Amino acid sequence: MGSVSHIFDAVRRDGRKNLLEPEAKEICRAYEIPVTDFKVAKEEAEAIKAAGDIGYPVVLKIVSPDVIHKSDIGAVVLNLKTAHEVGEAYRRILSNVVKVQPNARMLGVLVQEMAPASTEVIVGAIKDQQFGPSIMFGLGGILVEVLEDVAFRVAPVTMLEAEAMITEIKAYPVLTGYRNQPKLDTAAIAEVIVKTSKLVTDHQDIKELDLNPVMVYEDGVKTVDARIILE
Ligand code: ADP
Ligand code: MG
Repeated sequence: MGSVSHIFDAVRRDGRKNLLEPEAKEICRAYEIPVTDFKVAKEEAEAIKAAGDIGYPVVLKIVSPDVIHKSDIGAVVLNLKTAHEVGEAYRRILSNVVKVQPNARMLGVLVQEMAPASTEVIVGAIKDQQFGPSIMFGLGGILVEVLEDVAFRVAPVTMLEAEAMITEIKAYPVLTGYRNQPKLDTAAIAEVIVKTSKLVTDHQDIKELDLNPVMVYEDGVKTVDARIILE
């Protein structure tokens, strides 16, 4: 995984520990974890060009090592359908960031494919002092935060263990076609868990990793936000 070490080296040379979302998504790609298609734009016209290349609708987000929770400060704009909307969102994001965090370094705006809304799950990893890299799985949103309905395993995690993690959360029926809900692709989630486990096992300098959220569909999954922090 040469490209992965390259990215980590560049981040450290830059004096950072937090990977930017596009860097974290490159790492995901190297491990064949599905992510939304994306491009970084440094000007409004570039963002519009990128949106056309990726295909509408798109999402715009700030790229800044100083902004951790992008949507909290109005730095994520979803479902943009025209070049005009992209231009507006580009300017709105920059002005929101300047308002709330005037000293934040702005490295550009991330233009990305808009993944259709669906059930959101979280795949995470932390480096435990005692057990080493450990993997976490839960549903996205308030369920994971309020109910602490999550499953943990020490890495490396096999496909069977990943499947067990998914079935053991209390919210599991949400994924399997509860009432009129569609049955979602839990095998694709298990694959993301296994690949994440491989990534943090191969690269023990990862302190924390969050794929939050991963959209889950009837066929396949897509990671729409990724965060990686190095030791
Ligand atoms: P934050 O830094 O606030 O976690 P996210 O990138 O996770 O920012 O965006 C906030 C929310 O917007 C996500 O939880 C997800 O619901 C939605 N979202 C973000 N990116 C996309 C995308 N490409 N397609 C669809 N929804 C998205
Ligand atoms: Mg997020």
